[in-house]
Amino acid sequence: MESISHDWKWQIANRIATREQLEEYIELTEEERAVFDGELPLSFAVTPHYANLTRNSEALRKTVIPVGAENNVGTGELADPLGEEDHRATPHLIHTYPDKVLFLATTFCSTYCRYCTRSRMVGKPQLNLEGRVPSRPPSAMNQSEQSPALQKYADTFAYIEAHTEIRDVLISGGDPLTMTDSVLDELLSRVRNIPHIRMVRIGSKVPVVLPQRITDDLCSILRKHRVWLSLHFIHADELSPETQEACRKLSDHGIGMVSQTVLLKGINDTPEALKDLFYGLLEINVKPYYLLQCDPVQGSEHFRTTVDKGIELIQSLHGHICGLAVPQYVIDAPGGGGKVPILGKEQLTRTAEGVAFKNYLGKEYFYPDQIG
Ligand SMILES: *Cc1c(COP(=O)(O)O)cnc(C)c1O
Ligand code: SF4
Repeated sequence: MESISHDWKWQIANRIATREQLEEYIELTEEERAVFDGELPLSFAVTPHYANLTRNSEALRKTVIPVGAENNVGTGELADPLGEEDHRATPHLIHTYPDKVLFLATTFCSTYCRYCTRSRMVGKPQLNLEGRVPSRPPSAMNQSEQSPALQKYADTFAYIEAHTEIRDVLISGGDPLTMTDSVLDELLSRVRNIPHIRMVRIGSKVPVVLPQRITDDLCSILRKHRVWLSLHFIHADELSPETQEACRKLSDHGIGMVSQTVLLKGINDTPEALKDLFYGLLEINVKPYYLLQCDPVQGSEHFRTTVDKGIELIQSLHGHICGLAVPQYVIDAPGGGGKVPILGKEQLTRTAEGVAFKNYLGKEYFYPDQIG
């Protein structure tokens, strides 16, 4: 089982989605086994590739194996912490900022992170604007059969075309790189054909959890449409030989890559863990972009550090290591204020329940910080 690789479709077809399948890869504690007896509040799946990594990494294991604490709803936690539903412009589009949009192309991921800010929707059928499930739910594997494949995005393209102030389209989900080459190629062509769009990004964890997906054909498609990748790494243990090879291949094809890292308690909340990851990313041509304060999504309390801790950590990096290795520490303002860079404690107003701070428009937002 050590050298499992096969191709990406094998990895998806053989992904681990039950306790029994998981126990073929790792030994579970009694407590972990018991969690599966109840109904899991969040979607569960792990690729064989990532499951193998968790066998030697307590840190990675915590990010994908369900625990009882995810059933608790902490103070200030919400199903939709970023207020995305209030900014949903079409069934597949979130428009929060003036000139950029978030295009939710799929709800499918090959591996589900337990701290996912979109746990309300990932692994579930995509809802329409009225909150109803469409009669034929989309999924990553059947999109290529849909004819024409882009039909369900028609409203979304029309919206982007009509809003000529939009410059930047961030295609995310779920994980868009789980879609087939032909659907991705069509989708990217369609977006690139809109004259006012200057930047196209794809948000993905695929090079980490499903590195077999990074084929020459996929790289050619991404290159053709001049796509940037916004990747999701949380720990140096994710930098497996397969992942390093995947990122080097993307880089050799001229694909620009940045990484977003969610700050997670007991997983990457030390200066050493962050330095290790960020230098490791530079070595595979990935620029650390954001260190994100963990969003107050339901069931996330066991993952969240204090904001003070985040500030201490980012201050332990600025000036101490290569400037390119230092991301921006941001709080994604709950309710939809956008990402706010946090440089020091003087930016924050403390209350008993958390911290208040201003976004780029000078509007005040609040993050429910744990005290003590
Ligand atoms: C993060 C995000 C973006 C992209 O923001 P950048 O700071 O440009 O990376 C766009 N829209 C939404 C809703 C987002 O959450
Ligand atoms: S890869 Fe991203 S969208 Fe998918 S479960 Fe993880 S955090 Fe959520």
